[in-house]
Amino acid sequence: MSLKAYKKKRKFAKTPEPSATIKKSSGKKLIFVVHEHHASHLHWDLRLEMDGVLKSWAVPKIPPITKNIKRLAIQVEDHPLAYANFHGIIPEGNYGAGKMIIWDKGKYNLLDKNPKKIIAELHGKKLKGKYALIKTSYGNKKGWLFFKI
Ligand code: MN
Repeated sequence: MSLKAYKKKRKFAKTPEPSATIKKSSGKKLIFVVHEHHASHLHWDLRLEMDGVLKSWAVPKIPPITKNIKRLAIQVEDHPLAYANFHGIIPEGNYGAGKMIIWDKGKYNLLDKNPKKIIAELHGKKLKGKYALIKTSYGNKKGWLFFKI
């Protein structure tokens, strides 16, 4: 796990975002957060705690709260765990400039994980139940599909 890419994209003197710190997970309960990110294009950032960081995916459309809706999710750089509490405004001229709102947050259970598949049971206010992230086999190497199962 590395926050190198996260660090490289940001100037911490100029953005209120948390600095790059890898923390040991505090226990069995993992956290997830979904940010509604009003950047140049509105998108949602799904973040799952894994190995001391938040694995992150940018989801161009609102995450599904019901089954039978599949969303593209583009994997982006790992974020520090502290990002789960971050909301605010990333100032103009910085990476990801715009308003960042916590859209949903909660604990989750990791049910299955391999390099191409993550199954998680989310306990959020909006996202509840079992969700899958499946790596797409075509096109963008960072492309995944996110949906409720
Ligand atoms: Mn984003």
